Amino acid sequence: MHSPCDRVLPESMDAESERVLAARVLGGDPRAVSRAISLIEEGVPEGARLVRELFSHTGRAWVVGVTGPPGVGKSTLVDRVAKVFRSGGRRVGIVAVDPTSPFSGGAVLGDRIRMQTHAGDDGVFIRSMATRGRLGGLAQAAREATLVLDAAGHDVVFLETVGVGQAEVDITYAADIAVVMVAPGFGDDVQAIKAGILEIADVFVVNKADHSGAEGTVAQLEAMLSLDEPSHEHWRPPIVKTQATTGDGVNDFVGALDRFREYAGDDLRYQRRYRLEVSELRRLLGEAFLRHVEQLVSPSELDKVTAQLARRELDPYTAVDTIMNRVLAERDADRKP
Ligand code: GDP
Repeated sequence: MHSPCDRVLPESMDAESERVLAARVLGGDPRAVSRAISLIEEGVPEGARLVRELFSHTGRAWVVGVTGPPGVGKSTLVDRVAKVFRSGGRRVGIVAVDPTSPFSGGAVLGDRIRMQTHAGDDGVFIRSMATRGRLGGLAQAAREATLVLDAAGHDVVFLETVGVGQAEVDITYAADIAVVMVAPGFGDDVQAIKAGILEIADVFVVNKADHSGAEGTVAQLEAMLSLDEPSHEHWRPPIVKTQATTGDGVNDFVGALDRFREYAGDDLRYQRRYRLEVSELRRLLGEAFLRHVEQLVSPSELDKVTAQLARRELDPYTAVDTIMNRVLAERDADRKP
């Protein structure tokens, strides 16, 4: 018996099995969703082909990014909010991303423990992801995992990320709404989130409202937002106090999400998706171009150029021009009758 969070190691698939898997994902089968996400995490071509099949079925889910330091209460709060959405009949997907830790069995265990909170409810799908030695690939894998959950009919997808650095900002770009969570007593709680995160927050949550100091954290956030007034001309991110363990404030949080959703409408949502697709398209083009170059220029030739660079016999711009000229010459040769 497989539970939805069993990770089935990807093995080579034929075209027919790929089509069957895509159809099962579209039918909302949790085991198929799990398998699909594994393929994406592994970065194998089957994963890319699956995204190709599923993409036209995506765009319906509301993707909620939740970021904050470890231990702030993200998973406790998201699990609670998931229950609220479930009681309204909506299907919920949760992707928990940890760019700071390597992938380990702990992630699988974590999924299982969290699934117990939603035991017997297959309207909630939980999956955690960590780095597998490819930090750059994690944001992409997380984004593609949300696409799979979207295609599988989840109405709301939470994208939880640990921490407050650039990697989290990149991951949050894949969200329709960005929630930043802090709690009193987290070292520099508010100071720590200044770099880059303040600009992306649509909603702030001050969790652990039962702790003394919660009011102070709210006041610090208020002060920071007033300094940054011009950039919040149209939408001033609300600051919601919660106590995730008891559920206090959870309805306020859901209310803030709903208000933002109404404010954002289709226009802002489209703008954010456009911004994401700009960087996705460039990234994929870059990767495709590099693969093309690597087919054309042998590893030993690339080594030779690299050695010349290291010995300062060649400068990097000339090196790139030389390689580009090779690619263009090849194209011209192909075009000759
Ligand atoms: P995450 O790492 O951000 O996902 O944090 P968790 O949701 O795992 O929570 C970390 C710890 O804080 C757990 O022991 C929770 O029970 C606890 N916690 C979460 N929310 C609250 C809260 O509102 N008040 C208190 N006192 N503890 C909380």
